[in-house]
Amino acid sequence: MKVNKAEIVISAVQPEQYPKAPIPEIALAGRSNVGKSSLINTLIQRKNLARTSSSPGKTQTLNFYLINDIMHFVDLPGYGYAKVPKTLRAEWGKMIETYLTSREQLKAVFHIIDLRHPPTKDDKLMYEWMSHFDIPHEVIATKHDKIPKTKAPRHAKIIREELGMPKGKHPILFSSETGLGKDEVWKTIYELCDI
Ligand code: GDP
Repeated sequence: MKVNKAEIVISAVQPEQYPKAPIPEIALAGRSNVGKSSLINTLIQRKNLARTSSSPGKTQTLNFYLINDIMHFVDLPGYGYAKVPKTLRAEWGKMIETYLTSREQLKAVFHIIDLRHPPTKDDKLMYEWMSHFDIPHEVIATKHDKIPKTKAPRHAKIIREELGMPKGKHPILFSSETGLGKDEVWKTIYELCDI
């Protein structure tokens, strides 16, 4: 999609703050620093709308981005940042859980995983949790440019197997650096959101 307009509409904590527009939403989940903000920026062709940073754990809110006035991307707080106190982590968990289990217009969660490494314990927990609650989700394996091209299929296979992805499902290979996978991700969005 050619993105002519992209703006952050709200950083929400409570459901009362979620935008009221009944338009389709795609949420993005992943561990801190996995490349979520970079992926959003790549999709919407902006350098820095979604804040990228080397300080993991910075986003503690649900950030709603309005795209071409027809859909939202919802950037979820990154998980797995050890330095965050347990109580705060519990609050994040609740905030994410409330959103994911109650938001009617949520079409799917894009689960961002680092292609370089096997999924972490938290990646697996997140995957299992979404499967258990029947929340539609797609795995996007990013930072493809950081490994030798020939190794990518093997890494993708490990992610597939370790997460226990069902037959016929595979991670979408992505790179914010080269733009690999961008068209496939948009195609997936069109299908899921019916736009
Ligand atoms: P977030 O915390 O998940 O939002 O992660 P960011 O988008 O801020 O990315 C974390 C770091 O990884 C930044 O230094 C990015 O420049 C880098 N990064 C993200 N995606 C890619 C990618 O596809 N390729 C490369 N080489 N670096 C990436």
